[in-house]
Amino acid sequence: MVRELETGLEENTKGHETMIRKTRLFTPGPTPLLPAAQFAMAAADIHHRTPEFRALYTRVLAQMKEFVGTKNDVILLSSSGTGAMEASVSNLTSPGDRVLVLSAGKFGERWSALAKAFGCQVDLVSAEYGKTFKLEDVKAALKLETRAVFMQATETSTAVRHDVQGVAKLLHESGSEAMLIVDAITGLGTTHLDMDAWGVDVLVGGSQKAVMIPPGLSYLAVSERAWERMEGTYNPRYYFDLRKERKNAKNGESAYTPAVALIAALGAALDYIAAQGGGDLAKGRYQLVENAETISAMTRAAVQAMGLKLFAPDSPASAATAVLPPEGVDSGVIVKDLKSRFAAVITNGQGEMKGQIFRIAHLGFFDYMDTIALIGALEQVAVGTLKLKGFEFGKALIAAQKVYADKINSGK
Ligand SMILES: *Cc1c(COP(=O)(O)O)cnc(C)c1O
Repeated sequence: MVRELETGLEENTKGHETMIRKTRLFTPGPTPLLPAAQFAMAAADIHHRTPEFRALYTRVLAQMKEFVGTKNDVILLSSSGTGAMEASVSNLTSPGDRVLVLSAGKFGERWSALAKAFGCQVDLVSAEYGKTFKLEDVKAALKLETRAVFMQATETSTAVRHDVQGVAKLLHESGSEAMLIVDAITGLGTTHLDMDAWGVDVLVGGSQKAVMIPPGLSYLAVSERAWERMEGTYNPRYYFDLRKERKNAKNGESAYTPAVALIAALGAALDYIAAQGGGDLAKGRYQLVENAETISAMTRAAVQAMGLKLFAPDSPASAATAVLPPEGVDSGVIVKDLKSRFAAVITNGQGEMKGQIFRIAHLGFFDYMDTIALIGALEQVAVGTLKLKGFEFGKALIAAQKVYADKINSGK
């Protein structure tokens, strides 16, 4: 709602476009907001120590378990996603613990920095940006003393999908005592994850990603094994004390004043996702993942039809697609052009990848129309601004249309 008000012709920097432009986020967090969640937020004028809140909180926590697809308790925190990452480090490790971080981008590096901040000795398996790591390297790096393994389900900075199931299986087979802690902040709702069957100990998520609500909530699903580990760990924690949150959650409350409005929004979003699955949240989640898979496949086909190269062709995430600009072109040109001409917000590379890739997100509240519109706008950039040789209007759209039609016809 606010978005339409914000965008008008006066923002137009090019001067030759006379059409209305609606702001649309194609960013990997924050993502487009679900209108029903926005209304729920506006109506959430309730105190957090009342029966009304306790009913809401209890319902949302139960829905979150179904959404994640786990029997484990889910803990909600009022923080951005990094808060839940920090909580998993501070609650599950002690100073001096040896931990293994699997890193292939900015968010993998965040695990290392967090573990070091809490006094852990960090072993690292890394892969080049745009790639995923090899399981044999993980196996070789795993030590008898390894207490925890940290990884991403999808590395948002490079748009790479990592093999959570493979790592979980490897840990299981090696008889390792290490906890497997997965940042699924952009993985949840974009890739199929089976925490309980695979034996993942902690799965971390964030509100501004696939669940279609604003930033400010993070969540963790925590296994029994991980709760037991917490009995003996002694890194400092106060606000992010998971055991304290679990105890309060049993009574329908959080330890401190929670982000009440966001919790109401989350409830509405989970209702929406359940409705997509005919009232079944597990089915709704499955469809949300398939939605991201279809949109990412359409997008990959479209950019390749433009002659552009994928940054992560071997293990692409469906949360987002990272694309290399044409040679000699700063990716910022494409990001800026889409914003100024079409009010379409995509993202540049993070950190030292700035200027070298652009990223288009597919997680959450995106549909066919959004996808086709963005590809159409990209075609305008390709022809008008980049003047790509050999490219003509329609080529990228045709490639995307075919992917969509094939998916529909194959019943997927
Ligand atoms: C967005 C994101 C985070 C969390 O970032 P915050 O800004 O703290 O919400 C962590 N990991 C990944 C993979 C992400 O995409």
